[in-house]
Amino acid sequence: MTGMDRRDFLRWMGVGAGVAATELGLPLRLLAAADPDQNPLAGSVARDWEKIYRDQYKYDSTFDWVCSPNDTHACRVRAYVRNGIVTRLGNTYDYQTYADIYGNKATANWNPRQCAKGYTFHRVLYGPYRLKHPIVRKGWKAWADAGFPDLTPELKSKYLFDRRGEDEFIQISWEDALRDIAKALVSIADRYSGEKGKERLLAQGYQPEMVEATGGAGTRCIKMRGGMGLLGVIGKYGMYRLNNSLAILDTIIRRVGPKDAKAGRNWSNYTWHGDQAPGHPWVHGLQASDCDFNDLRFSKLIIMDGKNLVENKLTDSHWFIECMERGAKIVVIAPEYGPPSTKADYWIPIRPQTDAALWLGVTRLMIENRWYDEAFIKAFTDFPLLVRTDTLQRLRAHEVFSGYRSSLAPDGPSMKVQGLTPEQHARLGDYVIWDEKTNAPRALTRDDVGERMAKKGFAPALAGTFKIKLVDGKEAEVATLWTLYQVHLRDYDLDTVAEITHAPKEMIRQLAQDIGAMKPVAIHQGEGINHWFHATEMNRAAYLPLMLTGNIGKPGAGCHTWAGNYKAALFQGSPWTGPGFKGWVAEDPFHPTLDPNASGKDVEAHAYTKDEEPAYWNHGDLALIVNTPKFGRRNFTGESHMPTPSKAIIFSNVNLINNAKWAYGVIKNVNPNVEMIVAIDIQMTASIEYADLALPANSWLEFEGLEIT
Ligand code: SF4
Repeated sequence: MTGMDRRDFLRWMGVGAGVAATELGLPLRLLAAADPDQNPLAGSVARDWEKIYRDQYKYDSTFDWVCSPNDTHACRVRAYVRNGIVTRLGNTYDYQTYADIYGNKATANWNPRQCAKGYTFHRVLYGPYRLKHPIVRKGWKAWADAGFPDLTPELKSKYLFDRRGEDEFIQISWEDALRDIAKALVSIADRYSGEKGKERLLAQGYQPEMVEATGGAGTRCIKMRGGMGLLGVIGKYGMYRLNNSLAILDTIIRRVGPKDAKAGRNWSNYTWHGDQAPGHPWVHGLQASDCDFNDLRFSKLIIMDGKNLVENKLTDSHWFIECMERGAKIVVIAPEYGPPSTKADYWIPIRPQTDAALWLGVTRLMIENRWYDEAFIKAFTDFPLLVRTDTLQRLRAHEVFSGYRSSLAPDGPSMKVQGLTPEQHARLGDYVIWDEKTNAPRALTRDDVGERMAKKGFAPALAGTFKIKLVDGKEAEVATLWTLYQVHLRDYDLDTVAEITHAPKEMIRQLAQDIGAMKPVAIHQGEGINHWFHATEMNRAAYLPLMLTGNIGKPGAGCHTWAGNYKAALFQGSPWTGPGFKGWVAEDPFHPTLDPNASGKDVEAHAYTKDEEPAYWNHGDLALIVNTPKFGRRNFTGESHMPTPSKAIIFSNVNLINNAKWAYGVIKNVNPNVEMIVAIDIQMTASIEYADLALPANSWLEFEGLEIT
């Protein structure tokens, strides 16, 4: 090839390839090289092939749906449909158009929304694990067809109740599935009703206290769980409505009237999972303080305490990332250096379960250095309230002022807005402060806060110990809560706190200083007792630095968890709205509201069910009753929470086996005694593998009716 230039080479290649193509019978033009003497861009090139790629994105129609798994973010998603199949999912970019009933609109900053789980959801929908029709375990079906005979040890083995998971599932029609489930419910309720039913349960080895708790109603052995029901109040919590209607069955089996009817046991969701913040009600009476995540963008100091806003808040993490762009400070308190720590200005490493000590140490430093807002503390916290040092109870106004009459107004915020009843007020009483102007005690009501306090001329002393003459003529020593806290905090000097928490002293000090200097400050703590050994103390202590600095009740401030439980409050009843969602889950089955135009207020609610923690099922289907060597048989569960034997379990939208601790024990020791397990879900789960029947449910994408979340 020596002496051949590039052009000659290309010409030679073209001829050679053309000859080879002719010999192979291929069309020459495919392999003929471009003429190097011509401009290859001069002519037009066929680009039809691009259509294939463009057509991938063609769609016939779109619709919007709300993604509603248990992360509770409820993103709106747009589905693109082609030939009746959802081919892709995307953002709606229209959050700014959403309005509440008052016309308040969201901002465009909510766009875009979704995470990778949301925009690939159609793969779950059409995936191989999708449940498409009802299925039944072969052994269970044989038992049903045999007329639900008593499950002796032999029959348990014959019908594989002791080997669920190894049995085979077969397809069953909806009609047959529903008929068999209904028949089984009747059979089980009947078998365990009355004295005979109790005898059967005792013979099977259930604790007598649990058997007694059935009250002789076999329906009480039926457990239902509307899994994570606040993700779909109508559909998921509808499970409890069904359970409540078992009261009708009980009246037929035991021949009792509605007054004595007993329905099934409702299994809990959020309390079993333990994802509440138990310290929050201690501080402010609310079940849990949660903020909408757009509130993060107002914060100047964001403290993640055992919280992972990066990985766990998915679509909402951008709010705090925007804060970084706006110059806010991010602090992470966690034992491990994880994804949130990579975004932090500083990470405070901490020994697990010592967060309460850290917050008490921070509080002490702030008080010692006067890094607090005295005006806020006096006007909005209970630090100035007087406490008797002899009883350590708050001093009540009627203890000090003879013939005391409260001035709490019936149309004030406590009564009118918060719904405090006169009976509750009578139990609480009014409190007392030491008034600096008059140098004497002065009563105040729970309405006397903030501006109202100032208007009435209160001048509360923050610190001090005083002698007070009580109405019974005795003298008592009282101190402000502020002063008592100084005593409590004596144990939490910097050296001790560093020793307890293993956190570096300079970082504890830095945190105290930052909370004292910056505003607004928000502390985000990771959920509840499912994460913490000392959740109550940890929640309560974290509020103290915020109370000192007025970082409560303002945009970008506060102490929050974010388990989504706050949603429950939205569905609660009130005298002016009616029974709330109880009207749905516990509408009286003996008096259903049949008028489609009736107001929700007129719905008659009556719960014939009784709540139960699945934790007992998860613990060998046993209550905590111990035969002690010294004190005999001791019932630690108590009567109010006493479970009943679990003979039928129906649940929706929840993977019980996945939730259960020591699932092996449940599968091997507990469930063989359960006569029917029905799981309702969108796809196969471990729980379905160990169930008797599974019913396929609509996914969030497929809802056709209205749902509430
Ligand atoms: S964050 Fe993801 S999974 Fe959660 S609701 Fe939004 S899209 Fe769905």
